[in-house]
Amino acid sequence: MGLRESNIDQLKGGIFDVLIVGGGINGAVSAAALASRGARVAVIDRGDFAAFTSEESSNLVWGGFKYLENYEIGLVRNLCKSRNHLIKAYPANLKEIRFMAALDENSPYSPAFAGLGATAYWVIGNGFTKPPKVLSRETIAEREPIVRTDNLLGGIEYSDAYIVDNDSRFVFGFVRSALNSGATCANYVSFESARREGGRWHVQLRDTDTGEEFTATTKIIINAAGPFVDPINAAHGITTKHKIVFSKGIHLIVPRLAKQERVLAFFDDTQRLFYVIPMGPRSMIGTTDERVTDPVTDVTDEDRDFLLNQINERLDLQTPLTPRDIISTRSGVRPLVVETDNTTSDQTDWTSLSRKHAIEVDAVRAWVTVFGGKLTDCVNIGNEVSALVKKLGIPLTKDKKSWYGEPPKATRDEYFRQARLMGLDRLTTRASFETLSTRLWRRYGLRAFAMLEAMRDDPSMADDVIEDADYVRVELHYAAKTEMITKLDDFLRRRSKIALVLDYDEVREADGIHEACELLFGEDAQRRFDEYFTDERREQLQGYREPSASFPRG
Ligand SMILES: Cc1cc2nc3c(=O)[nH]c(=O)nc-3n(C[C@H](O)[C@H](O)[C@H](O)COP(=O)(O)OP(=O)(O)OC[C@H]3O[C@@H](n4cnc5c(N)ncnc54)[C@H](O)[C@@H]3O)c2cc1C
Repeated sequence: MGLRESNIDQLKGGIFDVLIVGGGINGAVSAAALASRGARVAVIDRGDFAAFTSEESSNLVWGGFKYLENYEIGLVRNLCKSRNHLIKAYPANLKEIRFMAALDENSPYSPAFAGLGATAYWVIGNGFTKPPKVLSRETIAEREPIVRTDNLLGGIEYSDAYIVDNDSRFVFGFVRSALNSGATCANYVSFESARREGGRWHVQLRDTDTGEEFTATTKIIINAAGPFVDPINAAHGITTKHKIVFSKGIHLIVPRLAKQERVLAFFDDTQRLFYVIPMGPRSMIGTTDERVTDPVTDVTDEDRDFLLNQINERLDLQTPLTPRDIISTRSGVRPLVVETDNTTSDQTDWTSLSRKHAIEVDAVRAWVTVFGGKLTDCVNIGNEVSALVKKLGIPLTKDKKSWYGEPPKATRDEYFRQARLMGLDRLTTRASFETLSTRLWRRYGLRAFAMLEAMRDDPSMADDVIEDADYVRVELHYAAKTEMITKLDDFLRRRSKIALVLDYDEVREADGIHEACELLFGEDAQRRFDEYFTDERREQLQGYREPSASFPRG
């Protein structure tokens, strides 16, 4: 029986302290934090883990420099502290990165003023990162020759951090942590309804892959359904002081633009910041910020052309970027929190709405709702949810903070010693952005030791499954057993980032894709292949069509 099936078996008729609806970042950290402290936890998602908002972010872990525009000092201070904490806890997964912001006459701030802001931002962040600098036009031209400098006044350089691999892989790390602590976790299981009786919730669940329905009971429900929290609350008679509104943001992934590992920042024509963010061998351009009412979004032609025009105007490329250069796209909605009786959120400059999270509890009905949040804030959310669950009467053991972070330095040193002794990085032939040993440690931590052993036994385990995909055979073998991959998209888009960095047709034609399907899905290999490779998917990835309202995706 596979990992998902055995977890679904535990769900059927299961009795839990806490059932978490939604396996995005908020649900995943809640599960990991609670399970590590001895609660009987279940977490479910009607799609794959992190397959909604948490796979569409900018991959940045940041204090929110731009929120200083709205004088949100408290929020920026908290986010900076969370950022610093995460950088320390995840030295391989999260890296400090320099942002170079180029400012021209149309930018809302002069380089000197932006430099003052960046210094304030740095101080608010406890001076944890490298200090900011004001840059002259000449320095920008020298450091980043692709930036058009003829109309620049200058710029600034400051630091934040980014997720080296991918947001959804980062989220899955918390699902693995929850599993390791004994939580029951299942993707493609939807929360259909719940009824409170005898001091417990009787919950109706459905396997969205097979259609099978079953029930479970739980003392507490945590609604962590991201953009969908409000309808779930309404359907269960839960009233709250907050609600969610949606801000759509898109990204385009194109061939690598800037050589250096640095983020380029520009103000667009509407004076909003957008970025060019490194993503391994590619660059990710984004994001936009547009009010929408439907949480299900896609990249429209208008979105795509807007971003391409903005970037082409600001870069000095040999040939301007066109839709043909787009390798893949991302589109999602930020769930922003407003007060339920706040009607002004409909009229005010809504991009200035706070990006704070809120957690509400209905103590009588033992129901917790997580509104908003950011990847950056994830440890705080795990801690706050745990404190509330404890108040609701679930005994929790002391928090040893073992549910997040990477193994200690001594363990890391031992791993790299073993990798060096076996000449792992000499075994691998192709030039990647990093060594194989570094990549495996980052993605798998302690599990990478067993991978070294597997590669010692069989050197072909260190071979790429798909050329240029930065994913080797041993990873595939481990993913098949431990990463609950149910559909091909889970593998290509979330556990790896193959579908983001390689063109759709390249992946479909690759020899290795069949090997991957067979290993992951056994006799279902062809069905999963056909289910993934459709014209609709190609259009969705490359951003060539209008949004479709169909849900769930994946
Ligand atoms: C364009 C963009 C850029 C961003 N950039 C950043 C950034 O750089 N840094 C940062 O820190 N944050 C960023 N964010 C914010 C961050 O991505 C989100 O706040 C965060 O991912 C929200 O996580 P969540 O768990 O609340 O929601 P989600 O990730 O949406 O998770 C909710 C889950 O609930 C599931 N669900 C819904 N209904 C049910 C049901 N009935 N049964 C079972 N499951 C259900 C959904 O399938 C979904 O997976 C960005 C967001 C966007 C859109």
